[in-house]
Amino acid sequence: MFVNNWLSQRVEQSPTASALIYDNETTTFRELGKRVWSIAGKLQTVISPGQHVALLGENNRAMYELILALQQIGAVTVFINNRLTASEINYQLEQSDTTQLLYADNFKELVAVLDLAQRPALSFVSLEKLTAPAMIPNKTVSLKATASMMFTSGSTGHPKAVQQTYGNHLASAMGTAMTNALGVGDCWYCAVPLFHISGLSIMMRSLLFGTAVMLEQKFDAFRLGLLLTEGTITHASVVTTMLHRLLDTTSSTYRCHPAVKVVLLGGGPVTKELLAACQERNIPVIPSYGMTETAAQAVAMPLDKVADKLGSAGLPLFQTQLRINKGTEAADTVGDIWLKGANITPGYYGKQSTDFQNGWFRTGDVGYLDNEGFLYVKERAGDLIISGGENIYPTEIEHVLLGHPAIKEIAVVGVPNEQWTQVPVAYIVTDKAVTEAELAHFLKNKLAKYKWPQAYYHVEKLPRTATGKIQRHLLRQQ
Ligand code: ATP
Ligand code: MG
Repeated sequence: MFVNNWLSQRVEQSPTASALIYDNETTTFRELGKRVWSIAGKLQTVISPGQHVALLGENNRAMYELILALQQIGAVTVFINNRLTASEINYQLEQSDTTQLLYADNFKELVAVLDLAQRPALSFVSLEKLTAPAMIPNKTVSLKATASMMFTSGSTGHPKAVQQTYGNHLASAMGTAMTNALGVGDCWYCAVPLFHISGLSIMMRSLLFGTAVMLEQKFDAFRLGLLLTEGTITHASVVTTMLHRLLDTTSSTYRCHPAVKVVLLGGGPVTKELLAACQERNIPVIPSYGMTETAAQAVAMPLDKVADKLGSAGLPLFQTQLRINKGTEAADTVGDIWLKGANITPGYYGKQSTDFQNGWFRTGDVGYLDNEGFLYVKERAGDLIISGGENIYPTEIEHVLLGHPAIKEIAVVGVPNEQWTQVPVAYIVTDKAVTEAELAHFLKNKLAKYKWPQAYYHVEKLPRTATGKIQRHLLRQQ
C-alpha cells in the first residue's frame, strides 16, 4: 500500500509550524523540507534507491536532516550506535549488507580503522560540498518498504538487524498518539539517540502529527528540569538514568509545569521509589515497554493508572495485541510475552527466526497480565533461574540488594548446581567493604532463602552493552 510522502504533506499542510528546535534555533516544516530536499539532491548523485546506507552521527541538525533525506531518496538507513567499537561496527556493516557509509566528520578517526572494502565512506562535510539540484520529492511511499535497519542492543548475544518499514513507523506513531494525547502545537524533547528507536520514533511522529522536536546533543539534567518547570515542552522520552539525574538536581519542592503531558520512560524496568519521587514533583512519568523490534513502545501505562499499578508497564497500545504463551493463561501466570500489530518488524535482516509465528512475535521476555490486562515484565526468558523447581527472578534479587548501602551495581545469574539444577550467584560492584554474612543478614525478612545468592563475586565493573544494559549471558559464561 502506498501513502502520501509524509514530509511533502507536512510542508504543504503546516509550513510555518515548528519542526525542529536545536541549539536555540527553530526550523519550520517549510524550511526543513527545503534543506532536506537540497541534501537529498546531493545524495542522489552517489546513492541509489534501495541501497543500504549506514549512518554514523550524533544528535544534531545535520544528522536529523540526513535521516530525512535518506528516506526521501528511498535508501535504507542502517543506524550505527556511535559508542560501538570498530569491530562491533564492522560486524553490523557486514550483517546489514551496507554498501555506503555516511559519517559525521568528528568520527573520522573511528572510520579510518573500519573495514570499508566495497563500502565507500563519505563525510557529512564532503557531502555538503557536492553540487546538485534539489530533489523533486516523490509523491508517495510504500508502507511495505524498509525505512530503517536498526540493531538490537546485544544484551543477550550478537545484536540482530531489525528491519523497520514505513508501515511499522506509521503504526507506532499512531499508537503513541492514541495513548499519549499528541497533537498540533506539542513539542517532544529528544535527548535519547536518534540512532535508537526511542529517538527515531520521535522524529517520525513529528512528521505524522505536525509536532515539534526539541533535539538535544547531550542530556543535561538541569536543562530538562528547567524545560519541565517552564512547560516549554509537552512530551519527553527518557530512560531511568536520566530520571535519576533529574531527581538529583531537583528538591522535593520542585514542580513540573501542568502543560507537560507525558514523560515517556522506556528501555528497562523502573523501581516504585523512582516513580513515587516523580509523582511527588508532578512529573507525568509513564512507564512503557518495547524494543527495537516493535518500533518503540508497544505497551504503555495510562497516566491516571501509574499510582495504582506500580511495577506494571501498562496496557498494549490501542492497536497492538499481547498474549502470554498461547494466550490462554489465567491472570497472574508468568509466561512468554508475545506481541502482534502493524508496528512489529517483518523480521530480522538475513536471519530466519522462530520468534515470528503466524503474525505473532515472541519478545524473549517473560511476564504476566493482571486481571485488568496490565502487563508486568518479570525477566528475559534466558535469565530466569529455575532452582529446585522454583522460578527465581534475578531482577527481584538485584532490586533488594541494591537497597544495601555498600552495593553500587549488581547482576544476579544462575549457575549449574547438582542438587538444585541451578542456584543464583551475584556479581557486585561495591564502594565500601561488605562481607557475605552482612549481606545474608540484610536479606533476612526481605527475600525467601532459596533466592539468596550462593556466592558473591566482587568485580570492578559489570559487562554492559554500548547502551549500558547488563550482559548477563557473559557472566554466565564465566
Ligand atoms: P538483544 O535483543 O540484542 O539481546 P535488547 O533486547 O536489550 O538486546 P533492545 O531492543 O534495545 O535490545 O531492548 C529491548 C529489551 O529491553 C526488551 O526486550 C526488554 O528485555 C527490555 N525492556 C524494555 N522495556 C522494559 C520494561 N519496561 N521492563 C523491563 N524490561 C524492559
Ligand atoms: Mg531483544
